[in-house]
Amino acid sequence: MTGQQPVEIDTSRPHPARMYDWYLGGKDNYPVDEEMGRQMLTLDPRVPVMARVNRAFMHRATRWLVGRGVRQFLDIGTGIPTEPNLHQVAQEGAPDARVVYCDNDPIVLAHAAALLRGTPEGVTEYLQADVRDPDAILDGARKVLDLDRPVALSLIALLHFVSDEDGAHELVRRLLAALPSGSHLVVTHATSDFTPEESRAATEKLRAAGVTLALRSRAEFTRFFDGLDLVDPGVEVPHLWHPELGEPVPGQEDGVIPGYGAVALKR
Ligand code: SAH
Repeated sequence: MTGQQPVEIDTSRPHPARMYDWYLGGKDNYPVDEEMGRQMLTLDPRVPVMARVNRAFMHRATRWLVGRGVRQFLDIGTGIPTEPNLHQVAQEGAPDARVVYCDNDPIVLAHAAALLRGTPEGVTEYLQADVRDPDAILDGARKVLDLDRPVALSLIALLHFVSDEDGAHELVRRLLAALPSGSHLVVTHATSDFTPEESRAATEKLRAAGVTLALRSRAEFTRFFDGLDLVDPGVEVPHLWHPELGEPVPGQEDGVIPGYGAVALKR
């Protein structure tokens, strides 16, 4: 978990968590991340708006889930803390909410303390683990969450870093198989559907720098929810999913947001 071991940060190549932090205006990134972030901006200047829109989706989806009585959250691909974090949104509505965070990037581990400051009634925990090892995540989560009771599994802006070769859809299926009826799946994902040329160029640039980007079509995104009941309004561009539950992100309507978001219920 959040042990005392020194954390090794690789500053020789860009990392998604740190690039995302740079897009959000954070300080936990390195020149190599900013350099690649700037290259992404030349392909699509709306990337920082996308990052904020994505974060705002997470806030609204969490509020929606709390409103449905959800009290347990497993968030994989958490990212560097940016307030409000998921547990702060959840515990604002439900102080007893229990949240397990998980990421595989050591920089997130280095900043995990901010993810662990929650309400006295609730619980937050951080696991350093890779989504490609679902058994390790479930073993860790079980120590904090009651997996016989519903859990909201959130994979927010994570799965476009997990390739088909790594079995992205199968990994989601395995995680969901361990959760009981009444659980939810929450996903956002970048897509090449709206901006194919820019998407191809971005994928190439990131691949050359050692970062996998697996953009998916609407159909491939929707397949993550096979066997589940998509909740209203189904698969949407993230800022159009229950906009009434939060504030709009400045600039979200000024052009395309090339991503999808959805929430579904496991019956
Ligand atoms: N969910 C946050 C952060 C998204 S950035 C948000 O939406 O605001 C994507 C995060 O996924 C990064 O922190 C990155 O380190 C993490 N990530 C990428 N591949 C991963 C993997 N295989 N296992 C676990 N986390 C991963």
